[in-house]
Amino acid sequence: MTGDEQVGAVTVAAYRVPTDAPEGDGTLTWDSTTIVVVHAKCGHHQGVGWTYGPAAIAGVVNDLLAPTVTGRSVWDVRGAWEAMVRRIRNAGRPGIAGYALSAVDVALWDLKARLVGLPLQDLVGAVRDEVPVYGSGGFTTYDQEQLRRQLDGWVQTDRIPRVKIKIGESWGGNVPRDIARMRQARDVVGDDVELYVDANGGYGRKQAIRVMAEVTDLDIRWLEEPVSSDDLAGLREVRDRVAPDVAAGEYGYDLYYFRRMCDAEAVDCLQVDVSRCGGITEWIRAAAVAAACGLQVSGHCAPHLHVHVAAATPNLRHLEWFHDHVRIESMFFEGSLDAQDGVMRPRRDAVGNGLTLRSQDAEQYQVA
Ligand SMILES: [Mg+2]
Repeated sequence: MTGDEQVGAVTVAAYRVPTDAPEGDGTLTWDSTTIVVVHAKCGHHQGVGWTYGPAAIAGVVNDLLAPTVTGRSVWDVRGAWEAMVRRIRNAGRPGIAGYALSAVDVALWDLKARLVGLPLQDLVGAVRDEVPVYGSGGFTTYDQEQLRRQLDGWVQTDRIPRVKIKIGESWGGNVPRDIARMRQARDVVGDDVELYVDANGGYGRKQAIRVMAEVTDLDIRWLEEPVSSDDLAGLREVRDRVAPDVAAGEYGYDLYYFRRMCDAEAVDCLQVDVSRCGGITEWIRAAAVAAACGLQVSGHCAPHLHVHVAAATPNLRHLEWFHDHVRIESMFFEGSLDAQDGVMRPRRDAVGNGLTLRSQDAEQYQVA
């Protein structure tokens, strides 16, 4: 290394992967998931980052971000990030451009770690060896048998002591089934596992409070997006009147978003998504915003994208071991981790994030 290594080619591809069964939550259903993978090169080293979202993200990478970071110093990841944020001003930071920014930022962090020969968590600055996760899925589209099998897999096979299911079905239009599914989940996992629920913004304020009042005997610990995460006063109202911790933040694209959510005292735990918020660079700052408000952060989805920076985040609660993304990440990446005993252990024997895209396996799903 000479110290003036530059970012070389930045390439991107999008892959649409069918789900293993129809998936749905309170406010959306889907039967495929698109992963957009970015590679950033320097000599024979290659960093990888990704995000989940429309294939159009690849266009933003190709048109705006790749030309911005190519030729910049490999070492100045934060400088590259600042340049990318300036570049996407008119494209709009939230949404597709934010996803693209996040994927490129992660690829640049990974590239730097590989060049210096460090595991990514050590480049960022690890504070723990093990990262707690919770099993997440429990889709509203599952029947009783599918739900039972998934919960059993997390609790009995993987021994994960925390699980989350979706509620708020049909925008809060099927509360009896929500309640029956929560009761089934508690029955399947037993008394010693933390039970979480996510309404994806499907309820109204009072409705959410009423639903939680009906299931106080289930000891639900986490209520995610009981109302729209844009309704900060609504989140605060629900938070004040239910026992579970209220969580939100998965749609946060910048620091001001997270500050507003914290200022409104809307959540007990702030969710942050590396694949949307602006990558590892912005995750670190978002976690600092939360810390300054006395809050922990929880990573939203994409566990392998989060695990290294999560290991370097003092005020981390846990990551989401999300069925859909776990499946894709273990299919697509050589070196993927498991969640045995409810923790991910980022590798110490690998450089960067330790992952390599299985290009030949991925190819069949490529759409851009
Ligand atoms: Mg959610």
